[in-house]
Amino acid sequence: MKIRIKKMWGNWFIFALVFLPLSASDQTALDQRLVQALDREIEKNQSEIIKIRRYLHMNPELSNREFETAKLVASKLSSLGLEVQSGVAGTGVVGLLRGNRPGPTVAIRADMDALPVQELNTFPYRSLNPGVMHACGHDVHTSIALGTAMVLSKMKDRIRGNVKFIFQPAEEGAPPGEEGGASVMIKEGVLENPAVRAIFGLHVWPDLEVGTAGYASGYIMASSDSFTITIKGKSAHAARPQDGIDAIVVAAEVVNNLQTIVSRALDPTEPAVITIGKIQGGVRSNIIAEKVILEGTVRTLSEDLRHKIPRLMETIIAGTARSHGASYIFDYQKQLPPVYNHPDFVRAMLPALKGCFGQENTLEVKPQMVAEDFALFAERIPAFMFLLGVKSPDQVKAAPLHSPYFNPDETAISLGIRAMCHLVINGLEQQASLKTPTDLPVS
Ligand SMILES: [Zn+2]
Ligand SMILES: [Zn+2]
Repeated sequence: MKIRIKKMWGNWFIFALVFLPLSASDQTALDQRLVQALDREIEKNQSEIIKIRRYLHMNPELSNREFETAKLVASKLSSLGLEVQSGVAGTGVVGLLRGNRPGPTVAIRADMDALPVQELNTFPYRSLNPGVMHACGHDVHTSIALGTAMVLSKMKDRIRGNVKFIFQPAEEGAPPGEEGGASVMIKEGVLENPAVRAIFGLHVWPDLEVGTAGYASGYIMASSDSFTITIKGKSAHAARPQDGIDAIVVAAEVVNNLQTIVSRALDPTEPAVITIGKIQGGVRSNIIAEKVILEGTVRTLSEDLRHKIPRLMETIIAGTARSHGASYIFDYQKQLPPVYNHPDFVRAMLPALKGCFGQENTLEVKPQMVAEDFALFAERIPAFMFLLGVKSPDQVKAAPLHSPYFNPDETAISLGIRAMCHLVINGLEQQASLKTPTDLPVS
């Protein structure tokens, strides 16, 4: 049943691409002849790209270990005639497509890594790698970027400038003790030679139905920082609390008091999350604990809050510890800024997105409190990350990202390729929109 419905969607998609005229409000930023040529090329490549996606899904690789994935990506890009650079930030691959008309360079970024999750789906192309799964849809992202390269490499005459395809390792975070991901790619010069003027990214989104896209002007995803708090008390016999300083009681108060930052100290219209995800302390039931370690994460949608929260946390931790005669170590690690879609760039690119999905299927969404290291590109150059609907129409609720049952509807892949092609061409045509704004955090 499911396959029948999917097939029907596939047919509908081809029909819609080829025959349905766009209404005035859905008018894409591109001319109709070009749109039709793109659609024909997407259709031609559709079955190959689904095969690639299923191969990637069956052979997922963890962060900084994307060896086979990178080989596949590099050989496909080379076969398309792109200039290919492998081994960027470890396993990253960069492909440069030079258009036949001079112009600036824009980039598409796709992440390639999978997660340490045991897949519980039962379809024939489920993961063959025990305990590893593409549970965040990065197989779809990689396939969409490759598909976009396949299509655009046949349309060089229409490309006014260059398109850099950035296949990034370790978006989910490098293994302990290693570096990886967007930060290392940037350090190794991925945004230079030729200089990238703007960047596009997408994330599959199981809350949105296939055929829809979500966007936000300004922040679309949150910052992500982590912290470790060590509370030091004094151990004693459990029956003689007067001889000790109970680190567990102090830690319990710290946990509760930290929650008052979001509820009492911050503007309630500005989202923030302080979560303690791990507590470790004590040695046994009849000894007062000397030490407790708390670990957690902070998410915000603004650099101001990101700056303010650690100071508020330390005031609370210090006050609570002092009131019990305990001491503390507060280690706060800044990791990722929020993902910022520069409003001017969104305004310039939105007609292209609406042209692909239709006005009513291009939904303005609330920012999400998850994080993405695409943020590091977006704080340097104009960026546009959108959410690609992947919930099948026959599902009431799709399995969420990182779930062992995550199963994006593959119909979304062609739609993602189409959107990326439109955005890239549109971006290169509108060169004024590629001007780096002066209000980006890093420029
Ligand atoms: Zn993820
Ligand atoms: Zn992801």
